[in-house]
Amino acid sequence: MSTTRRTFLKETVAVSSLIASQSAFQFARAQTSEYRRIAVEEIFCPPEVIQASKRAINANPDLEPNFRELISEATPFSANVVRRMQDVGDERLQAMDAGGIAKAVLSNWAPGVQIFGAREGTELAALSNDRMAEVVRDNPDRFAALATIAPQDPVSAALEVERAIDTLGLNGVLINSHTHNEYLDDRKFWPILEACVANDAAIYLHPRVPSAQMYGPFSSYNMHAAKWGFAMEVSTHVVRLIAAGVLDEFPDLRLVLGHMGEGLPFWLYRLDNMSRGEVGNTIDKPPSEYIRENIVITTSGMGWDPILVLSHSVLGPDNILFAVDYPFGDYARDAAWMDAAPLPEPDKIKIYSANAQRVFKLA
Ligand code: MN
Repeated sequence: MSTTRRTFLKETVAVSSLIASQSAFQFARAQTSEYRRIAVEEIFCPPEVIQASKRAINANPDLEPNFRELISEATPFSANVVRRMQDVGDERLQAMDAGGIAKAVLSNWAPGVQIFGAREGTELAALSNDRMAEVVRDNPDRFAALATIAPQDPVSAALEVERAIDTLGLNGVLINSHTHNEYLDDRKFWPILEACVANDAAIYLHPRVPSAQMYGPFSSYNMHAAKWGFAMEVSTHVVRLIAAGVLDEFPDLRLVLGHMGEGLPFWLYRLDNMSRGEVGNTIDKPPSEYIRENIVITTSGMGWDPILVLSHSVLGPDNILFAVDYPFGDYARDAAWMDAAPLPEPDKIKIYSANAQRVFKLA
């Protein structure tokens, strides 16, 4: 059979299964309690890290713009957020139950320990990972967790990856994009990437406020944060990693991006088209191939059918994971959205659980 014919058949099957799943929509809704729902970008911040962050921000308000306002607990919203981030008891479990969430993969808050100096950041990362491991040990059915590291000290951070995965049994690593305005394509950070590959730990590259070099245009109209700046910061970081050949150097490195891939699924065509001169020279493959092979995305904060369908179409059903970003996101709302999403049922099962189990090696 010719390649064209096979491709045509594959597409026909994909389209007809999509149509079939839509006509079975009512049936799918009635089955919603059957899903095993795992959410993979869920914040837990140990009180010690909250307190240290407050001290650091009070001493230097410019460390992370607007972070001061949130962490001050000065408004009912910020007080709620800070309380919920530290809770892994009844309030959290009730919120999970309201959305039928079987398991939350916890991770520290952005910017986490990356605002601190090397020594304090390294100590807080270890403390945070110990706390995460305790939470998981106390309730292994409902929680798993990603490690926090302080890339400020790359060698210590690499050792902490090893300890967190191998000794504590955590399920991956989360890095809040730049560290003191430096990016992971800098070779000084490569011991961290080596440790992640050696320990088969995926890196969740989570947003934070854009680095100082790009901050200017984001500094007004609240543009530095989740509305726009976060996605620009992380997507820029990922394109740097690809363009620098980091994924040629570490072909087994696995990255996870929140917020439906921080815009990258939209850009695959143009990234490839405008990288033609680099392919075979400075990088081995078109950027879209790294994005499909080394990167998975999550639905955190992006519960919207059109972009889910686009991402499913260009990345495939194995590369999307469900996430909510509690306490900023709402489990019940996002689960209701995914339950009703216009995708084939087997693909929704992958997005809800099978992909998370594979990427984070969940029991
Ligand atoms: Mn988040």
